[in-house]
Amino acid sequence: MTAPQRGNPLPHSRAHRIDSLTDNYGRQITYLRLAITDRCNLRCRYCMPLCGVDFVPHAEMLSFEELERLVRLLSALGLSKIRITGGEPFARRDCLPFMWRLQGMDTVSSLHITTNGVKTLRYLDELAALGIAGINLSLDTLDRNRFQQISRRDHLAEVLATLDGCIVRRLPLKINAVVLEDTTDAEILALAELPERHPLCLRFIEKMPFSGTPDVRPQTNRSLRDRLHHLFPAMLPLVTGVPATARLYAIPGFAGTIGLIEGNSRRFCATCNKIRITPTGMLKTCLYDNGVLDLKAMLRSNAADHEITAAVRAVVSHRYRDGLATEANCRRATPPTMASIGG
Ligand code: SAM
Ligand code: SF4
Repeated sequence: MTAPQRGNPLPHSRAHRIDSLTDNYGRQITYLRLAITDRCNLRCRYCMPLCGVDFVPHAEMLSFEELERLVRLLSALGLSKIRITGGEPFARRDCLPFMWRLQGMDTVSSLHITTNGVKTLRYLDELAALGIAGINLSLDTLDRNRFQQISRRDHLAEVLATLDGCIVRRLPLKINAVVLEDTTDAEILALAELPERHPLCLRFIEKMPFSGTPDVRPQTNRSLRDRLHHLFPAMLPLVTGVPATARLYAIPGFAGTIGLIEGNSRRFCATCNKIRITPTGMLKTCLYDNGVLDLKAMLRSNAADHEITAAVRAVVSHRYRDGLATEANCRRATPPTMASIGG
């Protein structure tokens, strides 16, 4: 065996991982989603209730220093893929300086962001300079009135400017489109013109029950997968071989791909490799749990690094098999908003 060459080091995750984090079903956890704020400049109806939400006081949110400490500890356990999300990440001041500090950690191998694109255009050059591994841009429709109806705000023009900015800069781009009860085939086909013309992935997402309103239960009369097969009869499944939330499809003649995220049907739990930290520092090992570890309490009571790591290992070794089991065991009268979880 030859020694690694200078300038050609081992991948970070291999070089620095102390001991990987594996759950009680043998799923290795390699992906951390950090929701850095619950604030947002949109009010998407599937994510927040019409009456609005009480945002958590700033002092209740993890500081960037606290978040950095958690990323340092968790990335050392092999969670080398980090996604910054929210709320809207750019609604929190100094999001980018924070991202630079994460990017500087040798245990972080890829840094991603999910954004609604309203204020993102001005940050694209810096995201490119940072070496962002992926931008997920949320865009449910290309129609201004419909955008306003869904997001309760009139900001489609800004989001489309961000979309163009990403394309022009050739940034690694995915588009997240939540399919609602009243999303029409025409809307889906209009969105699909984006991957037809550009090398990006358009992911259609099943609506999940996180609008913060108890009465909104996703209605799926016909599976989204069947619907996409009907609309795109030539689409062919792509086998990626890596754990993925989205099923990916190629369509002959398309520059990009189409994806399907069956978050409500929970079809990807068997390979789930991710955990989440909410803005208030609750660790979630499943989107459908109520938070299984209060990291903020540990951080603010001066817990040692090894105590935090041990507590994370303990909750990861008690995961439910899938989101259906989690939901059945963690019912709540009022579901949370997705903005308070991070999507
Ligand atoms: N504000 C940013 C954005 O919208 O991209 C990041 C946070 S948002 C909570 C993350 C993702 O969750 C978005 O792509 C959004 O469409 C998705 N999302 C929010 N509520 C959802 C729901 N009820 N069902 C499915 N996806 C949802
Ligand atoms: Fe804001 Fe994103 Fe939720 Fe829409 S989905 S309200 S943009 S956090």
